[in-house]
Amino acid sequence: MTMTDKTPGLYIHVPFCRSKCPYCDFYSMPVNTELKEKYIAATAGILSSLEQKFNTVYFGGGSPDMLGEENIAYLLGLVNRTEDAEITVECNPSGTGCEKRSFDFGVLSGAGVNRISLGLQSAVDTERRQLGRTAGIKEAGTAVKKIQEAGIDNISLDVMLGIPGQTEESLRTTLEYCVNSGAKHISAYMLKIEEGTYFHKVADKLNLPGEDEVCDMYLAASEFLRQNGFLHYEISNFALPGYESRHNLKYWHCEEYEGIGPSAHSFMHGKRYCYPRDISSYIEGKPPVYDSDGADPKEYIMLALRLSEGLVYDRFRQRFSKEVPDKMIEYALLLEKNGLARVTDKQFNLTPEGFLVSNTAILNLIGLL
Ligand code: SF4
Repeated sequence: MTMTDKTPGLYIHVPFCRSKCPYCDFYSMPVNTELKEKYIAATAGILSSLEQKFNTVYFGGGSPDMLGEENIAYLLGLVNRTEDAEITVECNPSGTGCEKRSFDFGVLSGAGVNRISLGLQSAVDTERRQLGRTAGIKEAGTAVKKIQEAGIDNISLDVMLGIPGQTEESLRTTLEYCVNSGAKHISAYMLKIEEGTYFHKVADKLNLPGEDEVCDMYLAASEFLRQNGFLHYEISNFALPGYESRHNLKYWHCEEYEGIGPSAHSFMHGKRYCYPRDISSYIEGKPPVYDSDGADPKEYIMLALRLSEGLVYDRFRQRFSKEVPDKMIEYALLLEKNGLARVTDKQFNLTPEGFLVSNTAILNLIGLL
């Protein structure tokens, strides 16, 4: 996990969903056969033109399973990748665990997919319904079983904290489900009410748990998962040892990645680019636009402090040819006195309690650069 890697990752954004979840502000839309074919043709054209080799590939969305397993396999076949590449596909239980629809994970595994990220969100059906999820825990369980039967053991489950009506007890039910399912990785995100979403419009009427309650849930989740052998390796991510997401670690380590698909971001050759949130321009072949130069010391520190390994002084020195300022370490020592950080002579990092106030702590720290 601590190794840095020069081989870039590849992210492919698939912007299609069956319906819009009421809290979601990702770029996604319903799809018909014609749109899907045009998207696949545009994406295949870009993939075929890339000369670069990748050691992680991540199909994210949206719901990439909506492309169908054969199309995912086709696109993956066009990717120039290393033999040991980590290849992840995000899947929705309503598309892959529903017994009426057949989704063959064997096709994905045969094509080289070795990691599935499943949008569980909650193991409690009333909570899943609050989030607009049509599939229940039965379909999620079927999807997990089908993935495992296809020989893919590296399963990541998404869990949400702060769902309307959720309690610490119901969250515990979800986490126990995750641990017992054999998942190797769990992403636990707090629900954010984003502008422009349906939840934003009706926020006052949602039975949302209070802020303190959600913080307690977060700390309880961290403790429970750590007791069950998971490493709390990033603010919102937990993994059994060796199962940390290699692709996502590239983002947090400020390593390079190519992003393809409408709204996808890239960081290549020291510059950040993104495709506009516009499927028409993507299908027409418009290139991504320059966003900014990336990975300056501030950004590097912001991302490093999301990780439990924190800011490693040697690596900062190697990358920027300068020392982590003493003032910053002094501030980290203050955080440590309050149980919010750990400081050694090699690095400092935030604790789970520190992660809860990471926005303020990190802003204060980078203000000392
Ligand atoms: S399935 Fe995911 S991407 Fe699609 S609308 Fe729901 S939350 Fe958004």
